[in-house]
Amino acid sequence: MKIAGYEIIPLRVGDFKLDGGAMFGVVPKPLWEKQCPADSKNRIEMTARVLLLKMQGRYILVDAGIGDKDDARFREIFDITFPHGSVVDELARHNVTPEQITHVIYTHLHFDHAGGTTVLRDGEAIPLFPNAKHFVQSVQYQHGLTRNPRDRASYIDPNYEPVRVAGLLEFLDEDTELMPGLFLETTSGHTPALQMLRITDGKRTLFFPADLIPLAAHVPLPYIMGYDLFPLTTLNDKEFWLERAARDNWVIVLEHDPHIEAITVRQDEKGRIVIDKFGSITELAGSLYEL
Ligand SMILES: [Zn+2]
Repeated sequence: MKIAGYEIIPLRVGDFKLDGGAMFGVVPKPLWEKQCPADSKNRIEMTARVLLLKMQGRYILVDAGIGDKDDARFREIFDITFPHGSVVDELARHNVTPEQITHVIYTHLHFDHAGGTTVLRDGEAIPLFPNAKHFVQSVQYQHGLTRNPRDRASYIDPNYEPVRVAGLLEFLDEDTELMPGLFLETTSGHTPALQMLRITDGKRTLFFPADLIPLAAHVPLPYIMGYDLFPLTTLNDKEFWLERAARDNWVIVLEHDPHIEAITVRQDEKGRIVIDKFGSITELAGSLYEL
């Protein structure tokens, strides 16, 4: 599927589980458990769905999942598995090697997004993509350094410090059109300066909101993660971006939904934003746009 010259390929680079209560904040379990059944430890299924973009010799990776550096205890807490293989396996399926990756975009530095950008060699974490510039918002990086007791567990140095030390980390200071038609848009409800991705040729748009809308179940406005540092900012930003997406027929790709790759949304008769269609990126884009 191509938009604005970018071939857009979703990759599943690991599954995991998170506490269902934490994933839905103030929303009571009876309202979310049918859509997201919890296991005996109250965890719900999550995936790490990242994007590979190919464009004129550039290979751009948007997030890289959890990676496989973690010890047994960590893997058990989050039930981390790789039913589709690692990020290296998934890239290989599309004939791309880690060395060929030219750009990595970190939506943010939480372990389930940044972990896959480094690997262990002789017990030491090193960059997996040695030829790639890695982009993060500087406000997000600085926030990670504060080691705030509330979210410090999400920032694990070996996931991205080796990238910085190798001179591969580039800091951005605002919303930006990183390449023609590829926009990075920041939102600061989940964490300061998370960058979302919007690829557009003016008529057709693909939106990757990362943790602004992690699962299809998070489309209704009050469904906001307990993890979010500033939930009212999430609420405002969800309203703003979902209204645009409904008005202009965007395809929204969900980073963490294990069952639904992408959705489109519409406004219902009461003015609420609801899911219109769901399916693969290709199916939805094919139904909306002439490809
Ligand atoms: Zn996440």
